[in-house]
Amino acid sequence: MNLERNFNQILSEIDEIGVNFVAPNADDVDKQARFPDEAFSALKKSKLLSVYIPKELGGEGLSVKQVSQICERLAHYCSSTALIYAMHQSQVACLIHHAFESSTLIDALCKIANDQALLASSTTETNTGGDLRSSSCAMSQKGDQFFIEKSASVLSYGEKADVILITCKKSDDSAEKDQVLVLAERENCNLAKLTEWDTLGLRGTCSSGFNLKARGPVGNVFPPEFSKILMDTMQPLSHIFWSSVWLGIAASVVEITRRNVVNAFNNQKKGADFQTKRFAELDANLCSMRSNLTQVILDYELIRAKPSITADEQMSFSITVNNLKINSSRYLVKIVSDAMINTGISSYSVNSDNSLCRQLRDAYGAPLMVSNDRLLDNNSTLLLI
Ligand SMILES: Cc1cc2nc3c(=O)[nH]c(=O)nc-3n(C[C@H](O)[C@H](O)[C@H](O)COP(=O)(O)OP(=O)(O)OC[C@H]3O[C@@H](n4cnc5c(N)ncnc54)[C@H](O)[C@@H]3O)c2cc1C
Repeated sequence: MNLERNFNQILSEIDEIGVNFVAPNADDVDKQARFPDEAFSALKKSKLLSVYIPKELGGEGLSVKQVSQICERLAHYCSSTALIYAMHQSQVACLIHHAFESSTLIDALCKIANDQALLASSTTETNTGGDLRSSSCAMSQKGDQFFIEKSASVLSYGEKADVILITCKKSDDSAEKDQVLVLAERENCNLAKLTEWDTLGLRGTCSSGFNLKARGPVGNVFPPEFSKILMDTMQPLSHIFWSSVWLGIAASVVEITRRNVVNAFNNQKKGADFQTKRFAELDANLCSMRSNLTQVILDYELIRAKPSITADEQMSFSITVNNLKINSSRYLVKIVSDAMINTGISSYSVNSDNSLCRQLRDAYGAPLMVSNDRLLDNNSTLLLI
């Protein structure tokens, strides 16, 4: 395994895995609502789960932009695989950016790089729903061990993850917003299924509900408050990496549509002119989607490079990052449904080469994944300040 591979080689490996392991299983993953085992075995074997971890801790030190490009590329082959990869990378980033005051967490990070561990995230809770800034469950402590019991109503690939990052209240008598983030190794978690994940789309993410019991050393509690981790890393990078996946789905849909339009044009089919003009509009939307993402990644890198930022800058960036998620998810739904109208009945058919059925179903998960309504509500408050 050559750790000195450059980024182009990494992208080639992603394509090789995409063609040989991800795409051939995408339909079955979707049909069976099963975890994309073949894809993740291959990604782990090629050490592609640790690419964002700095070189000195055993990773490859890729940038946010490069990880975003990998998420986008994977989405051409299978939305669920790409989304799992994106969720994993945003959790890895929380550790990299916020673990430095805890030697236990730094050791965990090195182990993650070494073992190619898959990280999951448990924020959503039965009582508080998708409100990341409230927890109803709490951490308790006995000696040097923590204990958490959480009704995790949506937890992607919980049964396949090696590590779960869990939000909870600092203690039983803490306020709902007084939260910490805690790392739990899967072997120290007990997961009892509450709900099945039999959904319209993104079926391979296996995001069932679980009653989650976790324990571990108190050194696994992240030193900063969760609010800081969320604002500095979890929110911006989740929205950036998810948007990268949605961009990849949209780009693959535009590519299928382009093939069909070129074919219609070359064969001088009736209506080809109209399809071509509609296609130009589709491409313009894809272009806006990409520009938004590129700009927010630049903004994020600028903000991270600053020694300190003002409260105004922080608020303004939070609004921008929320807007990225809202707009990317809306563009995705629009692009896929417009592409279907452009291509016609063959895209509506499950078994045709032009089929857009899976992408259409997957697209509708994007606005729900942390509800756009909640983000608009947050932004409306921030905009008034
Ligand atoms: C594919 C997928 C994977 C996921 N993976 C995970 C995971 O791994 N871990 C995890 O923790 N979660 C995960 N989630 C959960 C997700 O991130 C959301 O938090 C969860 O779906 C929210 O549940 P809900 O739709 O019931 O929305 P809620 O946020 O509970 O709200 C329900 C509805 O009420 C309205 N609403 C509620 N509150 C407000 C408000 N303040 N302002 C405006 N409107 C409001 C909105 O219209 C919203 O649609 C995943 C979701 C999806 C789709």
